[in-house]
Amino acid sequence: MSSTLPRSNAALAARDLAVLWHPCTQMHDHETLPLLPIVRAEGVWLHDADGRRYLDAVSSWWTNVFGHRHPQLVAALKDQLDTLDHIMLAGFTHEPALQLAEELVRVTPPGLARVFYADNGSSAIEVALKMSFHYWRNLGRHGKQRFIALSGSYHGETLGALSVTDVPLYRDTYAPLLLQPLFAPSPDAYEAEPGESAADCAQRRLGELRALLERHAEETCAVIIEPLVQCAAGMRMHHPAYLCGLRALCDEFGVHFIADEIAVGFGRTGTLFACEQAAVTPDFLCLSKGLSGGMLPLSAVLTSDVVYQAFYAEYRSGKAFLHSHSYTGNALACRAALATLQLFRDEPVLQRNAVLAAHLARELEPLRDHPNVADVRQTGLIAAVELVRNKRTREAFPAHERRGLRVYRHGLEQEMLLRPLGNIVYFMPPYVITPEQIDAMVKVARQGIEVAVRD
Ligand SMILES: *Cc1c(COP(=O)(O)O)cnc(C)c1O
Repeated sequence: MSSTLPRSNAALAARDLAVLWHPCTQMHDHETLPLLPIVRAEGVWLHDADGRRYLDAVSSWWTNVFGHRHPQLVAALKDQLDTLDHIMLAGFTHEPALQLAEELVRVTPPGLARVFYADNGSSAIEVALKMSFHYWRNLGRHGKQRFIALSGSYHGETLGALSVTDVPLYRDTYAPLLLQPLFAPSPDAYEAEPGESAADCAQRRLGELRALLERHAEETCAVIIEPLVQCAAGMRMHHPAYLCGLRALCDEFGVHFIADEIAVGFGRTGTLFACEQAAVTPDFLCLSKGLSGGMLPLSAVLTSDVVYQAFYAEYRSGKAFLHSHSYTGNALACRAALATLQLFRDEPVLQRNAVLAAHLARELEPLRDHPNVADVRQTGLIAAVELVRNKRTREAFPAHERRGLRVYRHGLEQEMLLRPLGNIVYFMPPYVITPEQIDAMVKVARQGIEVAVRD
């Protein structure tokens, strides 16, 4: 340990930049953009090495639903460390893994009866895609080899998950390596026709999905979707009616419905799971991020007994699902997830979130009139402000101007971690945020927007 070196932001950043390569970053940016060493975190606050603090308004990439180092999660993990750390889950089991599976089956939409673990969101997507394909293969449906995803979708960045992702920034470079899915137009309400309601937009998009299925259902394994909010695309939101219609179309055409609730699960949209708002059960439900309360990497794919039974046979039939990750069902991560679910049981989290969400909506309301704001949208504790050059035509600011980055810089100066997606300023705070902190968050964002839209 280099404990003799000074522990300042500058010293830690210099050491970091000599050896580390950061995610989702053009490292050259750090010639001008400070890299922030965080030495301690508690609740909504991150503390850096120079003694400054930042309110984590994005829940550390949407993972940290109950704030940092929540005492109940910390206690559960300390307890778990005293008994069992990790054991491979093939041939072995342990109480945290099986208890978490029992709990997940209990709290997720009815009909999901089996839990398969992985250790991050992208891996959960890989599992769901492979399981769907393999299910049809086990039934002798060898022609089913493709997937349908939505425009603007984001499902992760491993090659399979990136294949069903439609964010050009992440996908285009690797396109030659990827599967060729079919893309159906997103029901994104921001792209509704003038005068068209979100519900009508959803119906029109279902018509287009139907047309795609009429031509391609025979070769399609599954439709994969982020229910209610396409987060990485810029917090684009759609009406729950789309999910009802999607469920019906998947049944009619014999394709699976994969719900990627990696970002929207665990209370983020107002219900424990987004699918509840349409009262639908997907064939596969992918969970991660908030699953472990933002403490440890963990993911899970839930599916039905029908899917499970298509794999259950004598070994020699070759029907087994042989996918694995070394840290599958890690005991510490499962324990953190159990403590997270316990918080939903012990406390009126969803009711409290509803009050916070209403408060956030009121605070954001005045921004609707801003000359550079084309849209203010919200679903539960996800809210977004779409910055544009021209409000009337919705002409976007050119991406290379990086207006959102100015909001980010301004935020850091004001103790606020806002990390816009392009020109979309969004809020996805931990559920332990207070109304006063929401006020501060919106105030800093408003100031940041003023700085950002200046020439
Ligand atoms: C973050 C995310 C993923 C990928 O999860 P990772 O753990 O980052 O691999 C997949 N789908 C959605 C909707 C996400 O937000």
